[in-house]
Amino acid sequence: MKNKLFIEVVLPVPLANSYTYSVPQALEREIKIGTLVLVEFGKNKHYSGLVSHIHHIEIQRKFEIKDIIATESAKSVLRRPQLRFWEWLCEYYMCKMGEVYKAVFPVGFRSQSASSYKVKTETFVRLCSPYNEDPKQLEEAFASLKKALKQETLLLSFLHCCINPSEKQKTKEIAKTKLLIQSKQNIAALNGLINKNILELFDKEVSRLDAYDQELKDLNKLNEFQQKAYSEIIHAFREKNVCLLHGLTSSGKTEIYIYLIQETLKLGKQALFLLPEIALTTQITKRLKSFFGNKVGVYHSKISNNERVEIWNNLLEDDGYQIILGVRSSIFLPYKNLGLIIVDEEHETSYKQQDPAPRYHARNAAIILAQMHGAKTLLGSATPSMESFYNAQNGKYAYVLLNKRYEDVQLPLITAVDIKELKRKKQMKSLFSPLLLEKIETCLQGKEQIILFQNRRGFAPITYCKICEWVPKCEFCDVSLTYHKKKDSLRCHYCGTSYPTPTCCPSCGHEDLKPKGFGTEKVEEEINKIFPQVKLARLDTDTAKNKDTYDSILSDFESGKTQILIGTQMLSKGLDFDNVSLVGILNADSMMNFPDFRAHERAFQLMVQVAGRSGRRKTRGEVILQTAQLTHPLIQMILNHDYLGMYNVQIEERLLFKYPPFFRLIEITFKHRKEDTVDMLAKEFAYILRQSLGTRLLGPDKPPVAKIQNFFLQRVLLKLEASISLLSLKAILEDAQKKMEIHQQFKYLTIQYDVDPM
Ligand code: ADP
Ligand code: ZN
Ligand code: ZN
Repeated sequence: MKNKLFIEVVLPVPLANSYTYSVPQALEREIKIGTLVLVEFGKNKHYSGLVSHIHHIEIQRKFEIKDIIATESAKSVLRRPQLRFWEWLCEYYMCKMGEVYKAVFPVGFRSQSASSYKVKTETFVRLCSPYNEDPKQLEEAFASLKKALKQETLLLSFLHCCINPSEKQKTKEIAKTKLLIQSKQNIAALNGLINKNILELFDKEVSRLDAYDQELKDLNKLNEFQQKAYSEIIHAFREKNVCLLHGLTSSGKTEIYIYLIQETLKLGKQALFLLPEIALTTQITKRLKSFFGNKVGVYHSKISNNERVEIWNNLLEDDGYQIILGVRSSIFLPYKNLGLIIVDEEHETSYKQQDPAPRYHARNAAIILAQMHGAKTLLGSATPSMESFYNAQNGKYAYVLLNKRYEDVQLPLITAVDIKELKRKKQMKSLFSPLLLEKIETCLQGKEQIILFQNRRGFAPITYCKICEWVPKCEFCDVSLTYHKKKDSLRCHYCGTSYPTPTCCPSCGHEDLKPKGFGTEKVEEEINKIFPQVKLARLDTDTAKNKDTYDSILSDFESGKTQILIGTQMLSKGLDFDNVSLVGILNADSMMNFPDFRAHERAFQLMVQVAGRSGRRKTRGEVILQTAQLTHPLIQMILNHDYLGMYNVQIEERLLFKYPPFFRLIEITFKHRKEDTVDMLAKEFAYILRQSLGTRLLGPDKPPVAKIQNFFLQRVLLKLEASISLLSLKAILEDAQKKMEIHQQFKYLTIQYDVDPM
């Protein structure tokens, strides 16, 4: 008898990496690595899973091995080396294949049987017979329309659209809505032509992905500095796989990327352009499409599941997209042959996925992905991450410096104002120093635009009682609530729960609750009071809930409809505005004082980046930086745009206090519904681990937010020498977990690993 066929199937559950199933003989021929199969998991639960291995070995198991129920895809939905990349990710970030599968695989794809993917159709218009076969017949049609001017216009318009030169080839049909818009005629005219059997309607399957129908542009000519940087990169790639392009804000890095992409396409390879945030995709999509047109696909978290499936399917085809522009999750798409990955704004922390697993860093994972394809990685930033700059310094990465701005526009002039002193002298007008207000006034008069930056959304971070210091907290998370004035509610920024604002202090009954600190909403209100006639907009995660509102806020600012844009760090990321001549940083201190070893690095990056939005084209921009720590060395470095100064101070501290890039951090978080249980289990787990890891283990401690959505948290931090092998570490962890199993509650304890936490 022939041996039975077994397969390993990756399922969207976080327990094991894969589960073994057997294949009924009738289905054997359809099984390949990367195909989808329908299986029963547990009792009566059905999942669509991914075939990751095929074998004939029947291993003795406690459970019976079930047959798969059906196959769900005719061919593999993966490309090499995707599975290997997933496996690497699980190894490095200590997660399970199922978690990767769940996170990266489009839902509409995962279950064809209960298919959530829907084909999109649209109504089109075409000529009826015999007009579609013989153009001469059309003359008769026109003759019959002598008395119907609107119908005649519509028909002319239809014919015109069909021979539109931008469509390259003649089409014989056009979407109904498009025809009505272009002909400026109404539905009655169209119905008239349909009743006369000249035109007819039909439904057609269409793609959800945008098609670009404008004329393509030639690439911009690089200036001599860009040209030099470009040649250095090309040269560097002969020897090294990764190159860091350290280029000032507005030095024209994007133009260099575009040249590199063009070179990559010439070699018949694909390019992946990574951005830290969907916020940025609009501007860069426009730029890339104007050069590369429909070769560009765009992938981000706000596109629908159906679009996701279409992009994935597109890339599985032989003539799929050659360029993907996307956010971190686009590293998981099925690339055929990557030649280049660009990681723009590589220092951005949003490249790190926080929750749920896989908690990967897209920049670091991209470098591995590129290696698997034999491709190169270019990291670009005006303020590189400490890690990347360190790697460039010690020769692991190549390093290219571009320290001239395009058209030699000077870097903005940053002036620091001492708000502590001004407050003491009672000279602050609400949140603003006299100097900032004076500059805003001048800008407004000169019809120039202004950006005001406050790295905190909402109205006030906390409301508190002046008498007893009571602070409202979230019921489910141990975190104080932020006051949102527009909705007149208190909101938890961790779980999103919203609470009515109390009218008096529930603790002492005092009726005057005061806001403390301030967020973007408060800035908006205050500016409105001082400059009531000025049009302003606010950009933060509250106002830019979806991509459309985000885009409209930005395009209103680009077109000059709004004069002042107030926002959080969403503003700092590589946006390119022509007419901004002033940036106000309202409070540098909250960023600098943040309790994290990266706080100064982040504060420097944020402030230098947001400053770089000022005066990008014609004139030198200005920045007013408000701080209570005027003499702090970091402030001085920001004023001088002194990246190296910041780096040198920080790198010494990293070494001294055992932080990256010298040490690797792993955060282990324990979660349980009972506080004393999680405390006890974490202590015990740490005790066992400490026997092998010694002083490399810190904790357990309560994290700053010690309760999230009714789960209590404890945390352990591992600081490991870069040379420690992950394999031996895993053995230690697994051993400790086994020892913990004697505790009854251990199986209800959630343990999360965060490798290289940010
Ligand atoms: P960066 O990415 O370094 O911040 P960008 O590539 O966005 O800089 O360039 C800043 C501005 O200068 C953009 O508006 C861009 O169109 C323009 N620019 C840069 N290089 C060129 C070039 N070689 N030719 C024409 N315009 C350029
Ligand atoms: Zn909460
Ligand atoms: Zn009180």
